[in-house]
Amino acid sequence: MKVFKFGGASVKSAQAVRNVEKIISKFSNDKIMIVISAMDKTTNTLEKLCNNYINNDNEKFEIYNKVKDFHFDIFNELIKDNKVEFENILKFEFEKLESIISKENESSAAKSYAQIVSFGELFSTLIIYFYLKHNNYNCRWELAGNYIITDDNYKEAKVNWNLSNDKIKNILEPKFDSSEIIISQGFISKSDSGTTTTLGREGSDYSAAIFAYCLDAECVYIWKDVPGLLNADPKFFENTQKLDYISYRETIELAYYGASIIHPKTIQPLQNKNIPLYIKSFKSPDEKGSIIQSKTYADSLIPSYIFKKEQVLISISSKDFSFIAEDNLSHIFNKMTEYGLKANLMQNSAISFSICMDDMGEDMLNFINDLQSDFIVKYNERMELWTIRHYNQEVINNLIGKRKIYLEQKNRTTVQLLIR
Ligand code: ASP
Ligand code: MG
Repeated sequence: MKVFKFGGASVKSAQAVRNVEKIISKFSNDKIMIVISAMDKTTNTLEKLCNNYINNDNEKFEIYNKVKDFHFDIFNELIKDNKVEFENILKFEFEKLESIISKENESSAAKSYAQIVSFGELFSTLIIYFYLKHNNYNCRWELAGNYIITDDNYKEAKVNWNLSNDKIKNILEPKFDSSEIIISQGFISKSDSGTTTTLGREGSDYSAAIFAYCLDAECVYIWKDVPGLLNADPKFFENTQKLDYISYRETIELAYYGASIIHPKTIQPLQNKNIPLYIKSFKSPDEKGSIIQSKTYADSLIPSYIFKKEQVLISISSKDFSFIAEDNLSHIFNKMTEYGLKANLMQNSAISFSICMDDMGEDMLNFINDLQSDFIVKYNERMELWTIRHYNQEVINNLIGKRKIYLEQKNRTTVQLLIR
């Protein structure tokens, strides 16, 4: 059994969905669990809809109609005849969403978020399921929330592995006896009390890994709009190179430093069961793509570059020339936790401590204000944090040019430079 994940860009139009069908048709000898995201940027639009709903803004109906038209246009372009039954199901789902947003909000913002935003994946999976059915595939549609069970942290739920494993093994897996393909949603789940939860933005990769782990899949394919895992983001870099083979370890490090390749939680379940992950292009599905697996021999062959913009360097020093030592540090870390801040880089000297973090706006300024009663705190905004894995000095020199380095940290495999 294989698990496939198709992201929003791979299903953003009728033509894109036809392409997905073509890819699936190449695997006619396999049982496939297919996990799909919301179409195109639907999740962003639904987040906006949700905010409008919570603030009781009447623009919500405008946004709702936009989402509805977008999906029905794709549906109507894909399926021209024998469509009444499908059409009614899709209409019914839209009516459910309409009725939610027509009532006054009585839940917490996070609970409403999960309830509303999860419709994106319901619509996309229904349309693709209808299209495959229409083309005579032996497939089923299943609600991910019946299998992926979580706590009730609605916006970034934590998976209950025991319950999810039981449901997937005992209820979902037997359904493959009579179906070749099962289609389900990425990103969405349910709490054990039965309310909809979500796994966090971009969480569909993680959903695919959860299904793969519990189904003991042979491999996972993530179909993307890039030829594989690249050594830098093509938005910032002209000459990117594809990493053909890369280890779980290296991938999780790259994701940690901020490479937006795959959702960082995806790797652990796959590594635990040694399930290889293929990153392939949905535009050229016959090309090799990248393979993420346990072997590390190729990790260091090509340097990788990760850029984080909008960084802030905060320097904290003692007011009375006393050392910044463990007691002060734990005070600073506790404050960071209190304000929900995360360090991307840290460095200390005798009487000062520097932290580089994402520009977190108000929370960060409040943190700085708070610390100012005990320390001298200065900060620099609009910096860039560059991380290079498997660097050499030439690579660094070429990249830096005449720019000023504010902070530098090196170990054998990684150099991090804070630059402006
Ligand atoms: N549709 C969700 C999002 O855009 C989940 C995903 O695409 O992975 O964040
Ligand atoms: Mg995505």
